[in-house]
Formats: sequence, structure tokens, C-alpha cells
Amino acid sequence: MNTPDTPLLPNHLAGRWQTGTGRGQTLLDPVLGTPLVRADNTGLDLAEGFAFAREQGGAALRALSYGERAAMLAAVVKVLQANRDAYYDIATRNSGTVTKDSAVDIDGGIFTLGYYAKQGEALGEARCLLDGDRIRMGKDPLFQTQHVFTPTRGVALFINAFNFPSWGLWEKAAPALLSGVPVIVKPATATSWLTQRMVADVVEAGVLPPGALSVICGSSAGLMDQLQPFDVVSFTGSAETARIIRSHPAVAQRSVRCNIEADSLNSALLDPAATEGGEAFNLLVSEVVREMTVKSGQKCTAIRRIFVPRALYAAVAQAIGAKLARTSVGNPRNESVRMGSLVSREQYDGVLAGIARLRTEADVLFDGNGGTLVDADAAVAACVAPVLLGTQDAVAARVLHEVEVFGPVATLMPYDSEAQAFDLIRRGEGSLVASVYSENPDFIARAAAELADSHGRVHAISPDVATSQSGHGNVMPMSLHGGPGRAGGGEELGGLRALGFYHRRSAVQASSAALDALVARGVPFKL
Ligand code: NAP
Repeated sequence: MNTPDTPLLPNHLAGRWQTGTGRGQTLLDPVLGTPLVRADNTGLDLAEGFAFAREQGGAALRALSYGERAAMLAAVVKVLQANRDAYYDIATRNSGTVTKDSAVDIDGGIFTLGYYAKQGEALGEARCLLDGDRIRMGKDPLFQTQHVFTPTRGVALFINAFNFPSWGLWEKAAPALLSGVPVIVKPATATSWLTQRMVADVVEAGVLPPGALSVICGSSAGLMDQLQPFDVVSFTGSAETARIIRSHPAVAQRSVRCNIEADSLNSALLDPAATEGGEAFNLLVSEVVREMTVKSGQKCTAIRRIFVPRALYAAVAQAIGAKLARTSVGNPRNESVRMGSLVSREQYDGVLAGIARLRTEADVLFDGNGGTLVDADAAVAACVAPVLLGTQDAVAARVLHEVEVFGPVATLMPYDSEAQAFDLIRRGEGSLVASVYSENPDFIARAAAELADSHGRVHAISPDVATSQSGHGNVMPMSLHGGPGRAGGGEELGGLRALGFYHRRSAVQASSAALDALVARGVPFKL
């Protein structure tokens, strides 16, 4: 749908607001189907914009210490907090999310920024990061080597996914800006309004130097072509687009550093010794239901595959289904609604097609669809109710270990031995997170050791942390986010580790006196 009379989102590039000259793409309310705004960047001088960010924004940021940049992040937090109501309104209208799901994105982003503001404050007046101690190079103790990290003199281009228009920007921008690297964000078009509005508020508040933060809405055409050797690109989205990014000449030929966060078939694993109705059993059931329904399952970290001892298969299916049956679905403006819509009708079609593919190998154990939506027209709204699928033969299954359905959908599978459970989980070929539900610390330790190499995060839920655990799918800034293999092979967050992506490591070989002077400018740092 293209509706030229809806407002066009201005892009912020080269330190000024610029409107595209094309018709653009119309962003829709996924519940009501009504047009909201248009995104377009036709005619923008991308080369000028990237050069401005690199030269003006980069120089201004690098002129500051880590502590000063951390204070800037704290100022951004204040701006965003002052405008939260507007962000919630946009999320309801453009993402179709209920308030608590909007919070995961909006407050999650602000929290992450605040975390990096605090962490950066501790780096104080330093201008570079010291990697380990100096090392003697030979017999003469006067000539030594010191490894240092210095911020890269390029821009950070973020190409983001539709499901986290706020958090997706700030979880990347916080470490980039703290490092002294200017940011250009290209949000996914379908939900670019919230990203654009947040950037607009921060730019208008004047808390960042010109060129430090730019936003380009609409088409991605030509963006990768702008990248030069010291730039970095951080991509979040589908494996298919990730392949295009990876093979672009900027990455393949000009060695532009590239971080990829792609899709993932995350798992939940119930201890073989668990019993029906026991603590581990109940913890798994609650967490699976939460993961399937938060943001309508549109989280890259959501649980997609559930592995339980064969004897508990039917009981787990029954318990999950009973809880899912209480999920009211529909218009997020109605307070009785627990789960809003998917982000678009295209995603709706994609999720239904994905369920059909999974059903070639799985039975339906619970399906909340078919009833009426609350305050929403099923022919218009992108609402899909939760669906739990299951198979008795997890080993023979292929599609179930390969296809990520980006919605409120998960598949239950039984295992016959601990070793088989780990093998089945690894058939996801690298995931963002696996969660383990057990009352036994030894089993948790064994599972962690078995699964850590194929997962960015192993999240263990035992009764003693039942109320304090942070959630299988919640990405916390102090903990690593990313995963090997099909999850993209990227790494984000993990506290100050995230700064590594925006810095270059170099070995400085010099006299002790020169290294003393260098070390005085830095702060010890460990990746
Ligand atoms: P997508 O279609 O790959 O789009 C992601 C971004 O790439 C969008 O901004 C898109 O712009 C842009 N894009 C599309 N084609 C491009 C090209 N040829 N060159 C450069 N950029 C291009 O993915 P999506 O459907 O938005 O996101 C859903 C997927 O993301 C899911 O598979 C999910 O698992 C994954 N995801 C992963 C994480 C993680 O942290 N690992 C987090 C969230 C989501 P347009 O919107 O304008 O097309």
C-alpha cells in the first residue's frame, strides 16, 4: 500500500534533516490496517552523510574521554525518559504490542544505555584501553610491547530488524558512542517510526555532537557501498540478508568489520530427573509460555524447541496448553488483551506458512487460533494466537530443527537420554540461548559444559533463582548476546566486552619511558 498523503519521516544525515524525494513505503498499524507514516530516502547524498559522520562526528567524539562520552549517554537516557509516553504510543500503533511488550523494547533500550553510561563512567579520563601488561621483547628489558585498543576512525552502520526498533538501536549505539564511534542507523522499514522518533528527540536535545547519530529510513540500497576500511557494520535480521551483507565487497574485499545477529532455534531443556508437577517441571512450563507469548514470539531469543524426558511429554504438553489457553489475543489498546499482533500482515502470512512447514513433521498439541480476537478484525489484524506443536520422533525430524517461525510458536520434543538431548539441541547448528530447568547443580554444570560452545548464552533456571532469574529470552547488557553458526557468529553486549568491536587492537613496541607515557593515557581493560 502506498499513500502519499501520510507524513514522510525525515532522515537525519550530514547533520541536517532531509526528506526523501520518492513516494516511500507506508508504515501501517498492524491491528487496524491504517496508514501511519511513510519512510523514504530517495535522493539523499549518502556519500556526503557517511563522510560527515566519519569526519565531524568521529572527531568530536574522539576528542572526549570515555568518562565524558559516558556522561553523554546519561544525557541521552534523560531525553528518552522524558519522551517515553510518545514511544509507547508509537509502539502500540506501529508494532501492535501490549504495554508490557513495548516496555521490553523501549525500557530495555533505555536500561541498556543507562548501564553503559555507568560502566563508562568508571573508565574516567582515559583516551585508550590497555590490553594486558607490557611484555618484554628480548633480553633488554627496556624495549617492550604494550597492546592497546583505540577507537576505530570510521562510522558504525547498524542495519536493524523490525522487532526491536528501540532496544535494537540503543544496545548497539551505547557501546559504539562510548567507544567514540559515530552511528548511522537504518531501522527495518516496517517499524522505523520509533527509531526515527527517538533519534529525532536526541538530536533536537543537542546532547550529542553533530554527526554522532544519524538515521536513514526506508530502502537499504547503496548503504553498504558507502563503507570504507575503518567502518564497521552491525546487522540484525534474517540469515538470508546476512548472506548478502557478508558477501558485499565492503566486507569481502575492504575488510570492513562485520557483526551478524541472525535467526536461531533456541532450546529449553528439562532435567531427565524432573517429575510431573515438580519444581523444574513447573519452571519450564512457565518460562515456555512466557517466551511464546512475549512480543507474540517475535524475539530472536524466544524458545522454539522444547526438550523433555519422554515420560513427561504428554504432561508437559498438557500443562503448557492449559496456560496458553488463558492468553487473550487482539487489539493492544484493550486492557484485557495479553498478546497483541505480529508486526505486519506479511509476518502474519510468514508465520502461518512457517506453522504449515513445521506441521509436515509435527502434530498440533495446542492451537489458540479459531476463536475471536478481542477488538480486532481477523481479516485485517496481524494477530496469531499461540500454537504448540509436537513430535514423538525428534531424531528423525529435520524441518523442526531448521525452520525458525518468528511468532508465538514452539515445538515440544521428547528425548531418551541426556546425551541424545544435547545432540538434538545442537541440531540447531548454533543458537543464541539454551535454557536448562533443573534442581540439580551437577546436571546444570554438565549441560552448560555441553552446550556453551554452540550457544552464546546458557540460562539455567533452578528453584533457588526462580524469582531472581532474568528470563530465558531477556538480553541483559552485562551478559553476552549473539551465537555461533546459524545465529550469525556475532557477539554483542557482555558489559564492556562490547567495546572491542568498535576498537582496533595494536601492539606498541617502544622504550619503557615511551610506554609509561602511553599507559598514562589509558585504562586497563580485558576483553
Ligand atoms: P531482514 O528482512 O533480514 O531485515 C533486516 C534488516 O535488513 C532490515 O533493516 C532490512 O531493511 C534490511 N535489509 C533487507 N535487505 C537488505 C539488503 N539487501 N542489504 C542491506 N540491508 C537489507 O530481517 P527481519 O525480517 O527484519 O528480521 C527478522 C529476523 O531477524 C528473524 O529471523 C530473527 O531471528 C532475526 N533477529 C535476530 C536477532 C539477534 O539478535 N540475533 C534479533 C532480532 C531479530 P527493510 O526493512 O527496509 O527491508
